[in-house]
Amino acid sequence: MTRYVLTLEDNADFEPWREMARAALQRAVLPEALDWRIRGGETDLFGQITDNGDGLEALTAVPVVKTVTLRASCLALLRDMLCHSDPARFALAYRIAWRVQGNPHLPEVATDADIARARQMVRQNRQDCHKMMAFVRFREQPVPQREGQGGERRRFLAWFEPQHHILERIAPFFAKRFTDMDWIILTPRGSICWDGKDLAYSSEPCEQPELDDGFGELWDTYYASTFNPARVRTKAMRREMPGRYWKNLPETRLIPQLVAGAEVRVRTMAEQELQPAPAFHERLRSREQLPAEPMLDTTETLEGLAAQIRTCTACPLHCSATQAVVGEGPADARIMVVGEQPGDQEDLAGRPFVGPAGQLLHKALGEAGVDRGALYLTNAVKHFRFRLQGRRRIHQSPDVGHVAACRPWLEQEIALVRPKLIVSLGATALRALDGPGMAMADVRGTSWTVGTGENAVRRLALAHPSWLLRLGEGAQGNAERRNFSKGLTRLREFLDQPGT
Ligand code: SF4
Repeated sequence: MTRYVLTLEDNADFEPWREMARAALQRAVLPEALDWRIRGGETDLFGQITDNGDGLEALTAVPVVKTVTLRASCLALLRDMLCHSDPARFALAYRIAWRVQGNPHLPEVATDADIARARQMVRQNRQDCHKMMAFVRFREQPVPQREGQGGERRRFLAWFEPQHHILERIAPFFAKRFTDMDWIILTPRGSICWDGKDLAYSSEPCEQPELDDGFGELWDTYYASTFNPARVRTKAMRREMPGRYWKNLPETRLIPQLVAGAEVRVRTMAEQELQPAPAFHERLRSREQLPAEPMLDTTETLEGLAAQIRTCTACPLHCSATQAVVGEGPADARIMVVGEQPGDQEDLAGRPFVGPAGQLLHKALGEAGVDRGALYLTNAVKHFRFRLQGRRRIHQSPDVGHVAACRPWLEQEIALVRPKLIVSLGATALRALDGPGMAMADVRGTSWTVGTGENAVRRLALAHPSWLLRLGEGAQGNAERRNFSKGLTRLREFLDQPGT
């Protein structure tokens, strides 16, 4: 039996293999007569096969004896499996293509050993694609300034270690998802690059670059604040993030210390749940004596206002929340920051901005050089709105009716504090302060003046930190966090201006 050596690149995809397989099938070459090799890979185990130079050339010198067709479903299976990294994949694919000639329904036979292995490879390729979608972390790179040119697109770089040759397969996903920025993903199996118009692919192996865009600390703060110690499943984390992903993710270095403190935090949380909520009971006791509308007439101080807010029953939100969360800060603060509503932790603590979003805000304020103690922090709605999912309370945005019912309290806070700059965080606060006419997408990051003369108040609209947290660490999240930080520097500039 004449044997042929067919050599392919390690990252060869479907087409080069298809050309060789078609030539062999047309000449009725048995699978055993083909030695599929990877260029630069290991040689034949026994070193007995003669490489005829170009195996394909030797093969095509043999006369064609038949025409060959493969069903679309078989081609799809072979196409999907051939980006696997198993060196035996080319031989397996040919064996299947050969056997299909005598049994067109072979690809549907799940119990066949060849088909089972091919399907397993397809599954592993998909898992690898899924991991890449989940674990690629872009880092922004400086854009060189060219004289007389503006509007340069932002550039991002990422490092990832795929297990299989999936780059060309996964590239369209990233191009579609991150279309408004330039990016390069480097891997040991090649690289993909997007410039806004074209996707370029290179099979040249890359070395891991140094990646730092200065946002590492902010990401750590976000990750640590959203880490739920009651749901720690280290085995599942390890299973989902084996070594090659684990070592390249920025947050994994935090996990050991977070896990170490998880038991204590869970115990603290359990103890907190057992604590009574005095303000809630106070409110229940006083509900019957209170009018259903906010009482505003006798409030002269923030303390008096807070006492009234704590007993408010003007909308249904007071029924399920633990307590009203009132504003906090100096009575003569020059800047008031208005969020949406208290979250789960604020509801339990009775203080605004102490949960994950608040921690992100504090961190960003610190980085912008703004003293939190100089700000009056409050929310557009004073009671926590949520829905129950098992024992968990899941945040729900207040609706228009809740915002309208609570607006008198916000107006009263503004009238007492008389801030010169009011910062709205998110769409709910924007609507509470400016009515429904403004769209968050139009005004985010901008400022304007309301009123004239002594009554003039500057307004600044920023994203809500909880939205930034939900965006995660992708490119959009990084971009919006950067815009948020930039917006907060205006607070420092405002505080630095005398007489504002
Ligand atoms: Fe009153 Fe506002 Fe609470 Fe509704 S959310 S009960 S209006 S304080």
